[in-house]
Amino acid sequence: MAGRFIEVENLGKQYETSVPGTPPALQSVTLAIEQGEFVAVMGPSGSGKSTFMNIVGLLDSPTSGAYRLNGEDVAGFSTDELAHVRNRVFGFVFQGFNLLKRITAAENVALPMVYSGTAGAERRRRAQELLDKMGLGAYGAAMPNRLSGGQQQRVAIARALANHPQLILADEPTGNLDTQTSGEIMGLFTELNRETGVTILLVTHENDIARYANRLIRFKDGRVVHDGAVVHEGAA
Ligand code: ADP
Repeated sequence: MAGRFIEVENLGKQYETSVPGTPPALQSVTLAIEQGEFVAVMGPSGSGKSTFMNIVGLLDSPTSGAYRLNGEDVAGFSTDELAHVRNRVFGFVFQGFNLLKRITAAENVALPMVYSGTAGAERRRRAQELLDKMGLGAYGAAMPNRLSGGQQQRVAIARALANHPQLILADEPTGNLDTQTSGEIMGLFTELNRETGVTILLVTHENDIARYANRLIRFKDGRVVHDGAVVHEGAA
């Protein structure tokens, strides 16, 4: 498994459905992300953030350029390999939590392990362990609609962690939360990144949220216009 964790080179995306003459959603995006990084992606609406996240998350494919994951060109991945990476290597967290409403919090956390073939007893053990870690140990049997937004997002983060991913892709994860709860969720991401070394790629339009990351990538008109370290106050 030679190579860098994530490497995109001259990545471009032109949607087939876009109006003729519209500039590409992404153009000439070249960057690498190493294991353990905590990266915030910012930029105005329509600048290509979601397109970039969808391509990195293997939910969509580019129309030009290359994407290598752990040194392997993903263009060569079979449907099964793509599904495997999305389920085992990546964990997804969304603005709207996206929990299944008719099953309990613990069953939501366990779901990715059903797809990965983990045995029932181990699924339940791991789900409880993750809920404990998220401060929700007593809520495993709760239905999602009985939980606050912040609690639902913590269940969603636990679910994203179920299969020990290398990368968490988080799309506006605090977009539906109040300021204090947003801070708590960002504190959790920071702790996970520090303690487990999981790589985090997070889209946000709020400076206060981006500040939790260690690196900021800013998009404009489908291009990267800034890519640099986030300076933390009081850091040595
Ligand atoms: P952001 O996430 O920064 O708001 P997007 O990646 O969603 O930006 O969009 C980038 C550009 O691509 C925009 O001009 C948008 O209108 C266009 N776009 C996004 N998704 C589609 C799609 N499915 N079909 C056609 N155009 C799209």
